[in-house]
Amino acid sequence: MHTLESKYVRDQISRRGARLNDRSRNPAGEYVLYWMQSTHRFEENWALRFAVLQADKLQLPLVIHQGLDPTYPHASDRIHSFIIDNARELTKRAAQLGHHYRFVLRHRRDDDRRVVDALAQRAALVVTDLYPTAGVAERSARFAARCAHRVVAIESHAIVPSGIFEKEEYAARTIRPKLLPLLPLALQVVEDRCARLEIPQALVRDLPGEPLDFSRVSTREAVASCDIDHQVPAVPMPSGLTAARTRLAAFCAESLPRYAERRADPNDDEGSSRLSPYLHFGQIAAAEVARAALASGHPEQATSFLNELVVWRELALNFCLRNPRFGTLEALPAWVHKTMGEHRDDAREATYTLEQFEGAQTHDALWNAAQRELVRTGVMHNVVRMLWGKHILQWAPGYTEALAWMVHLNNKYGIDGRDPSSYAGMQWCFGKFDRPFYTRPVLGVIRSMSLKRAREKWDAERYIARWSA
Ligand SMILES: Cc1cc2nc3c(=O)[nH]c(=O)nc-3n(C[C@H](O)[C@H](O)[C@H](O)COP(=O)(O)OP(=O)(O)OC[C@H]3O[C@@H](n4cnc5c(N)ncnc54)[C@H](O)[C@@H]3O)c2cc1C
Repeated sequence: MHTLESKYVRDQISRRGARLNDRSRNPAGEYVLYWMQSTHRFEENWALRFAVLQADKLQLPLVIHQGLDPTYPHASDRIHSFIIDNARELTKRAAQLGHHYRFVLRHRRDDDRRVVDALAQRAALVVTDLYPTAGVAERSARFAARCAHRVVAIESHAIVPSGIFEKEEYAARTIRPKLLPLLPLALQVVEDRCARLEIPQALVRDLPGEPLDFSRVSTREAVASCDIDHQVPAVPMPSGLTAARTRLAAFCAESLPRYAERRADPNDDEGSSRLSPYLHFGQIAAAEVARAALASGHPEQATSFLNELVVWRELALNFCLRNPRFGTLEALPAWVHKTMGEHRDDAREATYTLEQFEGAQTHDALWNAAQRELVRTGVMHNVVRMLWGKHILQWAPGYTEALAWMVHLNNKYGIDGRDPSSYAGMQWCFGKFDRPFYTRPVLGVIRSMSLKRAREKWDAERYIARWSA
């Protein structure tokens, strides 16, 4: 096991980090500030590890601050509840571990929005998460531009440090042979610990922003008090590291032994890990998930699982980090643009408005069932997600609307939405990371997926009955 001071940790951090401004440290700083944005955990959190090392080096305490705003796109009961429930668990764990963690909820849009700025003023430096989606990169850049002191961002999403891949990778087949040999080194275990200096109580009382007192408020009450979309309800999925670990253990024991086969059946709720919401919010480290899969005693199935968890997931991260146009059609390769140009005016089998898609009002019962699964549960099975996306492409009035509406629906209802894997998955429907196939109307040479053929491959009627209107 490596210590935090080891060369191994230094090397890892140097390949995960970026300075977000060229300011120096604040010599009068009273603490180091870790602004937790996308990695909502204390374990295997590289930004936190760097912040702990900086605090020790400067002989300062560490403040871990997480804020939740009502203003991010798609802010809803669903997303807020999942974050707040996890913050409740983090508060308890912080007390046990000895971290000073504070969660500040901004209820209304006109509440003081600059708690992090006020905290940063008194910090020696600010460390935050490096993450390309969910508005984190833009928020961090704006903050770093106005912060008087040094701001550093460190990535903890990937197992293999994302900085190793400096350019955009073309496809899974190009990143796979580079990623997999690096996995054993990247999976080595590091001993996590708190900053050595405890924070004085007088300083705690004097810090700006009032942390949410979880002993006085339920998650439901906290969410209800926020100026957010209350039409997208919370889902019953338990949030937090404990729930993620329970799910991981069950998956490794019961489902992983037949993962490759079971993952193909959308009626099999336990066929895949269903860890995407926990991975998206950084509640569990992908490295912990990978180690558990490798230790399960099913090497072939673990390889198949790691192809998703590592190859596709880190291809998605590389895409969003290296291609700033990841949310637009401009991110697509030239052959897709050529074929879209040739088929732009093809007659559509049907066209729908965003409202009709959102209300599951298409002519196809299977597509409608998929949309209802997403709206009701916050997740959708991978096989169905591909069919769902391919048909938005075919039934929207144009390609631009198709992508924009897909992003809207995926990110509004998906509890795992707004993730690099969200954008990679949606762009895959348009041909990203893929190759040309036979020409068809509207799709051109983009790979098609047939709802009719899906009905022959698996029990779609059962799925439709389950997610009926
Ligand atoms: C149109 C479309 C939209 C998608 N939107 C999302 C999304 O919003 N959030 C999201 O996390 N994934 C998304 N995906 C990818 C994939 O469908 C989900 O990651 C997967 O279904 C999650 O279920 P699971 O956790 O049981 O996966 P498992 O099969 O157990 O895989 C383990 C983990 O690997 C990652 N993973 C699995 N498949 C992929 C993939 N194809 N690409 C990238 N990473 C993958 C996920 O983090 C997942 O949790 C989308 C795919 C498509 C085609």
